[in-house]
Amino acid sequence: MLIDWHSQLEEAYGQIVEWRRHLHQNPELSFQEVETPKMIAEILKGYGIEVRTNVGGRGVVGTIRGGKPGKTVALRADFDALPIQDEKEVPYKSKVPGVMHACGHDGHTATLLAVAKVLSENRSELAGNVVFLHQHAEELSPGGAIAMIEDGCLDGVDVVFGTHLSSGSPTGTYLYRKGFAMAAADAFEIKILGKGGHGASPHETVDAVAIGSQIVNQLQYIVSRQIDPQKSAVLSVGSFHAGNANNVIADTATLTGTVRSFDETVREHMESEIKNIVKGICSALHAECEIMYKKGYPAVYNHEEETEVFKTIMEACHSESTLVEMPAIMGSEDFSYYLRERPGMFFFTGSRNEELGAIAPHHHPKFDIDEKAMVYAGKAFLSLVYHYIVEKVEENAAQPSI
Ligand code: MN
Repeated sequence: MLIDWHSQLEEAYGQIVEWRRHLHQNPELSFQEVETPKMIAEILKGYGIEVRTNVGGRGVVGTIRGGKPGKTVALRADFDALPIQDEKEVPYKSKVPGVMHACGHDGHTATLLAVAKVLSENRSELAGNVVFLHQHAEELSPGGAIAMIEDGCLDGVDVVFGTHLSSGSPTGTYLYRKGFAMAAADAFEIKILGKGGHGASPHETVDAVAIGSQIVNQLQYIVSRQIDPQKSAVLSVGSFHAGNANNVIADTATLTGTVRSFDETVREHMESEIKNIVKGICSALHAECEIMYKKGYPAVYNHEEETEVFKTIMEACHSESTLVEMPAIMGSEDFSYYLRERPGMFFFTGSRNEELGAIAPHHHPKFDIDEKAMVYAGKAFLSLVYHYIVEKVEENAAQPSI
């Protein structure tokens, strides 16, 4: 019974907090995780779960095969930390200088371990399989997801779900959205190669500052004049470096920026228009240019049917919590790669608590979570698994055979 799974998860609360705090004190940077995957693998093995390590590099995949055949549901948690100095005054503060879990991935990991524990204890009830995707390196492009997928972590998987804790919403809240939920995030660097000279003789130079200024202005027209207003995109120039002296014309200028979008055709259009404008202006004004456009994670697209399933389940089995349909956010996540390969969805679990001081935004030196949020996240995962590989089978079995 789902209600029993939920109470078993609640009973494991002390253990969940212990795991989370251990991870919080011992954070590891993206693509440098050693002890974290080791700990995850040992815990999963301790529950008799089949484990594959070094998946796509540093990922850990656990599999529980149910007593009867059925669907395979994958659940994902990322486990990397960030290059940020922990400024919280708490007993479980990071022990590693300059590194901390400032995005809640420690909470994701502890949650998924607890879900694995509960499901391993109820294995006989499962008609189907559950795959636990413990992913390294979410914070650093190209990310761990794509390599884990290439290494077969989704083989045999029918549907995939993931969650992210959110300091923007109170504990007890779930946030979801059908379709595009998070943006694709790309970066660019533009180098303008002009010709330096005396500030008093501009006609003998190719002024990289003046040209760079034209480029910054023209780039703003891509979103406002080239992109369908029903669709959305962001282009921000974040840095512009050139010159050293008031009376010297700079020979080079370097501009960097970020591009966010949802629709893949919009994304392609942004890239080609940036290149078009930069090349056009530089050529008209006698400068050379170098353009580097680096694609980050694609947009997170939540599949219609699975989002509907999530919504229905949350309304039916989680009446004590608040379900919110959220606007799409411009942040990015490499969970998008799983959703390109399999149906599924990514939701947010509120972890904000004013009383506990868990209010700092993600990636902030004082970021913290309300640890109770892990129970909410875990319960949602258990409800989804129950729906796909227990409840559905019961429904099917109840149908008369023809
Ligand atoms: Mn994150």
